[in-house]
Amino acid sequence: MEKIIDESQQGSTLSLENNEKNGRKLYIESYGCQMNFSDSEIVASILAKEGFNTTQDLNDADLVLVNTCSIREKAEQTVRKRLEKFNAVKRTRPNMKVGVLGCMAERLKSKFLEEEKIVDMVVGPDAYKDLPNLIQEIDEGRNAVNVILSKDETYGDVAPVRLNTNGVSAFVSITRGCDNMCTFCVVPFTRGRERSRDPQSILEEVNDLWDRGFKEITLLGQNVDSYLWYGGGLKKDFDKATDMQKATSVNFAGLLELVAHAQPKMRIRFSTSNPQDMTLDVIEAMAKYRNICKYIHLPVQSGSNRILKAMNRLHTREEYFELIDNIKKLIPDCAISQDMITGFPTETEEDHQDTLSLMEYVKYDFGFMFAYSERPGTLAERKMDDDIPEETKKRRLTEIIDLQQKHSHYRTQEHLGKTEEILIEGTSKKSDAHWMGRNSQNTVAVFPKEHYKVGDFVNVKINECTSATLIGEAVGYSENN
Ligand code: SAM
Repeated sequence: MEKIIDESQQGSTLSLENNEKNGRKLYIESYGCQMNFSDSEIVASILAKEGFNTTQDLNDADLVLVNTCSIREKAEQTVRKRLEKFNAVKRTRPNMKVGVLGCMAERLKSKFLEEEKIVDMVVGPDAYKDLPNLIQEIDEGRNAVNVILSKDETYGDVAPVRLNTNGVSAFVSITRGCDNMCTFCVVPFTRGRERSRDPQSILEEVNDLWDRGFKEITLLGQNVDSYLWYGGGLKKDFDKATDMQKATSVNFAGLLELVAHAQPKMRIRFSTSNPQDMTLDVIEAMAKYRNICKYIHLPVQSGSNRILKAMNRLHTREEYFELIDNIKKLIPDCAISQDMITGFPTETEEDHQDTLSLMEYVKYDFGFMFAYSERPGTLAERKMDDDIPEETKKRRLTEIIDLQQKHSHYRTQEHLGKTEEILIEGTSKKSDAHWMGRNSQNTVAVFPKEHYKVGDFVNVKINECTSATLIGEAVGYSENN
C-alpha cells in the first residue's frame, strides 16, 4: 500500500544502471517518507552527470550519502547509527567521503561537521544542484555545507533517474515544502515553505514515464491539495500575483485533470492530502476519471477537537466527517487511510476515546499510527510539555492499532466475491508462483501467475482475504491493458 513510512524500504540502497564512462562509485541510502526516496533519484541523476555510478557495496564506495529523516526521534537515531557504521568503514578507507542529505541537514550541520566530525558534507533538500561544487570542495579536503532553503527550487528541470524500480510505478514530485505549521511537525523547518512545480514539466515527466512503460504514478507532496501553480513562487505569495497569473493558475484538481487526460491508461495516485485543503473539485475529478485511483490518504492525527486545535490542524472533527461523507457520496468505493498521532501533549482519556470513535465512524482501510515524538524547534516543543507518560502513549497506540486492524479486515472483506482490476507489480513475497499487485483502492492482491506478466492490468476474482491482502485468481486482461 501507499506507505508514508515503508519500514521494508527504510535504509534501502539505491542503484541504477552503470555508465561505463563513470569512474567513481556512489552509495546512497534513504530514510523517511516517499519524498526522500524521490529526492534520492534526483541526487543520483545529478551525480551520474558528475561521473558517479551507484554501488550497493559500502566497501566499494568513493562517496557515501545518507538521505535523512527528522520526523520522529527514532528516525534520527537510526541515521546516527548508520553514520557510526560509515565512520568505522572510513577508518580503513580514508579516501571515502560521507555526506548527509535531507531533513537532518539544517538542524545538525554544525554537530556533524564541527563537533563530532563524522561527515564531510551536509546538504539540505533544496541544495542538491549545488552538489557538483560541494563535492569539489570535499575532494580538495575541505568540509562542504549548503542547507539554504529555496523559494522556488522544485527540480522541475532535473529528470530523476528511477532507482530500484519495478518499471511499473513511479513517484512524481509536484510540490516541495509545507506551510501548514502543524505544531508537532518539523517539516516546515527542514524542507522550507511550500512551492509548486510547473504543470508542464510534470506532464512531460508523466508522458516520458508512460513512453518508458510505466503504468502508475503517484503525485507527491507534503500537502498535494494545496498545489497551486501561477508561474512560480511561494504559495503564500499568490496574493501578490497579477490578475493574468491568477486567471491562468492551476490548482490540484486542475492538475489531476490535466494528467489524467494526458495519459488515460496511466493509473494516477497522489499523496498526501490534508483535510483542511481537500476541496470538492478534487473529489469530483477523481469521480470523473476512471484512471484516477479511488484511494485517498487523509491523515487526521486525532479525533478530538481540542487536540486538533492544539495541533493547529485547521479543521474540526465535524468538518472531517463532512469531507468523508462527501467522498463516500461521490465515490462510494473510495478507500481512505489515516495517519494518527497518539499521546500529543495534554491528551486525556476522553480525547483518546474521541480518536477511537472517529475511527469507528470512518472505518479506514489502512492506517499509519505513531506515538508523539517531540521535535526540536516545533511550536509544540516550545510551548507545551511532552507530558503523556510513555506507557500511556504505548497503551493508547496499541488500542488504535488493534482497532485499525479490525477495520482493515472489515474493509478487505468488502472485496470478497468481486472481480477487480489489479496492476501487477512483481512476484508475491510469500510465493514465487503468485503475482502481487494492487487494486484501484491500493489494497494488495495476490493470485497465481499463469501467463500474465509484470505491468499487466488483470481482472482478478477475489476469493479470500486477510486484513491486509486479497487472494484471488485471474479471469482475463482488463480493458485498460
Ligand atoms: N504532510 C502530511 C500531513 O500533514 O498530514 C504528512 C506529514 S509526515 C511526513 C507523516 C506523518 O508523520 C504525519 O502525518 C504524522 O502522523 C507523523 N508525524 C509527524 N510529526 C510527528 C511527531 N512529531 N511525532 C509523531 N508522529 C509524527
